[in-house]
Amino acid sequence: MLALGVADRQSGQALCDRIDGTLSMPYLLAEGPVRVTASVGLALADHDATVTGLLADADLAMYEAKAARGGEPVRSVAQRHRNANQRRRLADDLAAGLQRGEVVAYLQPVVEIDSGATVGLEALARWHHPALGVLSPIAFLDLAEDAGLDLLLGDVVAHSACSSVTSLPPHILLGLNLSVGQLSDRGLCDRLGHIVAAHGLSPERLVIEITEHATIARRAGGGRVSPEHTLDELRSMGATLCLDDFGTGYSSLTHIRRFPLATVKIDRSFVNGVCDHAEDRAVVAAVVGMSSTLGLAVVAEGVETEQQLRTLRDLGCHLAQGHLFSAALAPTAVEPWMAAHGENWRAGTAVSTS
Ligand code: C2E
Ligand code: CA
Ligand code: CA
Repeated sequence: MLALGVADRQSGQALCDRIDGTLSMPYLLAEGPVRVTASVGLALADHDATVTGLLADADLAMYEAKAARGGEPVRSVAQRHRNANQRRRLADDLAAGLQRGEVVAYLQPVVEIDSGATVGLEALARWHHPALGVLSPIAFLDLAEDAGLDLLLGDVVAHSACSSVTSLPPHILLGLNLSVGQLSDRGLCDRLGHIVAAHGLSPERLVIEITEHATIARRAGGGRVSPEHTLDELRSMGATLCLDDFGTGYSSLTHIRRFPLATVKIDRSFVNGVCDHAEDRAVVAAVVGMSSTLGLAVVAEGVETEQQLRTLRDLGCHLAQGHLFSAALAPTAVEPWMAAHGENWRAGTAVSTS
């Protein structure tokens, strides 16, 4: 959560106490009272804080709190001015972790709403940090970029993702998120082509996920090319393009026309409000309408409830992704999940279908 008006560390700690206090109240279930415990990470913004930097700090602080806990909820405060040594140490850890295979791709199913069948899997990076546990990409993507490890990270994730889908039916697509650095990297297509080929996959199975921001941000320097160039090359290889987080950036039609997209993903924030907020429903309806006119597929991401799924289907959305179906699956869980739920995510679940 973002809290405004938190003047200093003490006020931040007080807020953490209130959150702890509320979350640790017992819930009364039929089986008896249950308590949940929380690990709270706190990051304080200063005048030059960025949204991504602040989120990364809060996330890391939460992981530190989680790693330090001994039964009781604990909290950790991330200093925005996390000393340079600490950051350097984490970057060294990441470099070593990438070599040691600690960074892997978890895969989240993309489901066709009407049939319930899985049509694709999106690769989401996870770092199995030896001390901090499983870290989400928000906690280390910026670090990777600052340390010049983003291209290696991208390759490692692609390798890991490809190796998890080799035994799956060929119609199952594989979504890869590309960073700003990857999009400007002259060697990306060659390397990606090799990685895909090494796993015996056809490049047509790749869905390249890009955000508007990533297509606008430029990287200067030798060996750099424009995002347009990279995306053209990827398309020539046979990959398709998906515009991620649609609705959160400029969401400009010019932009959509500039890139030969096949799919847009409606951001989770709109899906979250699609049942209760007319504005969010209107945005989803507009994106679905526009996409159908332009011949683009639409994926709604972050679907968590049956009600959201029904509303999205009624609005004409055909594809969805989210915890309702499955969170991102660890590599060893992909095949078993696909065997049990790949043809219909409801198979074997007790979820009502009305
Ligand atoms: P994204 O591409 O928008 O990915 C969706 C994020 O939403 C993922 O977070 C996913 O775990 C989460 N999510 C999916 N379904 C639900 C749901 O039903 N409820 C909720 N609350 N969350 C859901 P994650 O894995 O933490 O990834 C965050 C972002 O990091 C991604 O956002 C993507 O932009 C970036 N990312 C992840 N992996 C990579 C990677 O390998 N390379 C690059 N460049 N970026 C990556
Ligand atoms: Ca994505
Ligand atoms: Ca997204």
